Amino acid sequence: MANPKTIFEKVIDGDISSEKIYEDDLAIVIKDINPQAPTHVLIIPKTNEIPKLSDATKDHQTLLGHLLLVAGKISRQLGVDEAFRLIINNGAAAGQTVFHLHLHILANKSFDERSIGNDLGHD
Ligand code: 5GP
Repeated sequence: MANPKTIFEKVIDGDISSEKIYEDDLAIVIKDINPQAPTHVLIIPKTNEIPKLSDATKDHQTLLGHLLLVAGKISRQLGVDEAFRLIINNGAAAGQTVFHLHLHILANKSFDERSIGNDLGHD
């Protein structure tokens, strides 16, 4: 039997509604349902092949580059291109809760250079 869909596959398939701010052939960008900053969006590849970043292979090189370019494009679209944080939680112990690769953009809050571990994660 096929694996059950992840939350993000349901979002991509339209089974769950979301506030989508961008879509192309390879990825969607949605607002996070539980924002950790005034601007908090998720860049999600449409493929479910990569549960976490460390599962990616050379075959995903173009897609991974694309996701970073989307991050830059969306930061400009949102007007936060001068200051944002891009976060990938890799693995449950690092705070990952949805096992479908995604990148968080956080912006419009002040970031201290020593606060790198404080933005997303669970104690
Ligand atoms: P992770 O902890 O895996 O790095 O991030 C998962 C993120 O997905 C969390 O920030 C959480 O708030 C967000 N999230 C979980 N379920 C949904 C949902 O149904 N819709 C949206 N828009 N975001 C979700």
